[in-house]
Amino acid sequence: MSKIIVIDPGHGGSDPGAQGNGLREKDLTLNISKRIRKYLEDNYEGIKVLMTRTNDKYLTLSQRAQFANSKSADLFISIHINAGGGTGYESFIHTSQNSNTATGKMQTTVHNEAMKKINVVDRGKKRANFAVLRETNMRAILPENLFIDRKEDAAKLKESSELQKIAEGHAIGIAKALGLKSKKGGGTSQSKPKPKPSKPATDHTKPTQKESLTVDSKWGRAVTRALQSFFDTPEDGILSGQLRNGVTNALYGNTASFGGGGSVVIKALQRYLNTKGFNLTVDGLLGPSTVRALQSYLGTPVDGVLSRPSVVVGELQRRLNAGTF
Ligand SMILES: [Zn+2]
Repeated sequence: MSKIIVIDPGHGGSDPGAQGNGLREKDLTLNISKRIRKYLEDNYEGIKVLMTRTNDKYLTLSQRAQFANSKSADLFISIHINAGGGTGYESFIHTSQNSNTATGKMQTTVHNEAMKKINVVDRGKKRANFAVLRETNMRAILPENLFIDRKEDAAKLKESSELQKIAEGHAIGIAKALGLKSKKGGGTSQSKPKPKPSKPATDHTKPTQKESLTVDSKWGRAVTRALQSFFDTPEDGILSGQLRNGVTNALYGNTASFGGGGSVVIKALQRYLNTKGFNLTVDGLLGPSTVRALQSYLGTPVDGVLSRPSVVVGELQRRLNAGTF
């Protein structure tokens, strides 16, 4: 019986996904997905590889999951490109899973094979409550392949040889996770002589940024400054352009009002959270909806309130210190 693999190229049609350095996420995800399909079909037998889209078409997240469910897929992979000021590779499985479940073991295999091919910062094996992971019935993974808005990462994403490496790593990982049989003698890439290793790269080994914040669970200048550094926005430790609301009252007392316009670093935060599956208005205002998204992203209780101290700020401080935000 053949194994059914569904590849989901993220975004498409009216939804370009993240954009930067002249690149659009929806084009890259389709390009990589087609390469994964080709590599799987060229090198393994007993498989049926399906794609949620093969052209520039818009699909809702639920349509993508329903497609995989309706085909009784054995494995679902949703290809994405990251944005928001970091660098490197990370992968997600649903929050209901852990490293001991079948999904978690598949994540370990696919993530590690991808990392072997692409030689970038490993941002870790993560979990999130993304719709395509939540609504699919089978083992499901969502890799975020490099940062479209990071010059060094974008330079790689412009090279078809790099897109091919990303695709091959994932295809090999999928094959291992599903125990696929290699095609015999069919001119598979395994039978080709190995290309000579290229020169060790030195231009993209920037370590993950780490902070040394005191974990006191209180949002103050140091946290703002760390976020400004994380997002490469001007560092002054001040959240400018904030309106008075429950959140800013908790931070500054209810005497403060900063006028409208929003803050650059909060806009960057909102854009970053949107790349993680949220749908925030990018207005630069740190209000309850942004706090709620941050709480959900960091896996802390979600109530939209930023008290002093608060659990979500403690987790944010820990993640900024560990370089895993
Ligand atoms: Zn995406």
